[in-house]
Amino acid sequence: MLVNLTSDTATQPTPPMLQAMFAAAVGDDVFRQDPTVNRLESSAAERFGMEAALFCPSGTMTNQLAIKCHTQALDEVICEEKSHVYQYEGGVYAMLSSVSMNLIQGERGKLLPGQIAAAVKPRYDWLPISRLLVLENTCNKGGGSIYTLAEASSLVQEARKQKLACHLDGARLFNALVETGESTEDWGRLFDTVSICLSKGLGAPVGSLLLGPQELIDRARRYRKVIGGGMRQAGYLAAAGLYALEHHVERLAEDNARARRLAATLTTLPCVSRVEQTETNICIFHLSGSQTASQFLEKLEEYNIKAVAFGPQTIRFTTHLGVSDAMIEYVEECLGRL
Ligand SMILES: *Cc1c(COP(=O)(O)O)cnc(C)c1O
Repeated sequence: MLVNLTSDTATQPTPPMLQAMFAAAVGDDVFRQDPTVNRLESSAAERFGMEAALFCPSGTMTNQLAIKCHTQALDEVICEEKSHVYQYEGGVYAMLSSVSMNLIQGERGKLLPGQIAAAVKPRYDWLPISRLLVLENTCNKGGGSIYTLAEASSLVQEARKQKLACHLDGARLFNALVETGESTEDWGRLFDTVSICLSKGLGAPVGSLLLGPQELIDRARRYRKVIGGGMRQAGYLAAAGLYALEHHVERLAEDNARARRLAATLTTLPCVSRVEQTETNICIFHLSGSQTASQFLEKLEEYNIKAVAFGPQTIRFTTHLGVSDAMIEYVEECLGRL
């Protein structure tokens, strides 16, 4: 048995998803003539109560287009220090938008009340202009932590008082919503722009969406094109995204439950010193003694289990639609033998 807990991007399209892709009506999306892309964009925008949406190859592109559209050169973006936009997007905000990051240390990737007001810079010629707040729900490096709508609302309110624009990196927003029962409309109403990933737990092979006001999405579309993100018969990919949004949202609760089950097992193992709170499909844990993450991963490889190092002695397990209960049982059995 092969169990791939590396990332929820390891998902493979299911047979009915492939069928939907195969049957997609397509056209040249650069000319806005791909009916399936148009349908994906309009239905996703509607779901969030947004005016418009833009289908992009990756979440890095949707996040960075949002930063580009909300800022001007020499502005700064305020975000928690574990944020994907800072940690895992190659620092491209500096290149594409000529902005800097004002990083705040929160808790498990989440900002705390009062931190935004304290971080916003006064207007002096020698300081960057604080322009944009980015929140991430769930927070990947924070261990899949959830912002409740109430928590996010109070932070956004704080940001609005400071005249900041607000972007949500919602790559895994649906993993949070299936836990809280909150609605996409409420989250859409809160933010100027939202990005969501179709290629994580939702199981599409490629794709992210940027949602926002028409005028901003029009500008983002132009930037997408000039940085090489204009795709032609992208409807084949959009069909997978549509299928994912229609059929793979509710099932994310299973992934979350499986990750929590793994977390509970890990806490009983002597080779594990600490397991971080596991709210969704990401489980981060720390190894005891002098055991390194790469040694631990090598041992797992012998059992055909793949995971990823998240520090010298830290491992991340991620569950997704390619991980079954039987696989979790197998992983637990192997962990017991380590
Ligand atoms: C995966 C992810 C993204 C986008 O990553 P891509 O690999 O560029 O699609 C953005 N934000 C978060 C929190 C993510 O986990």
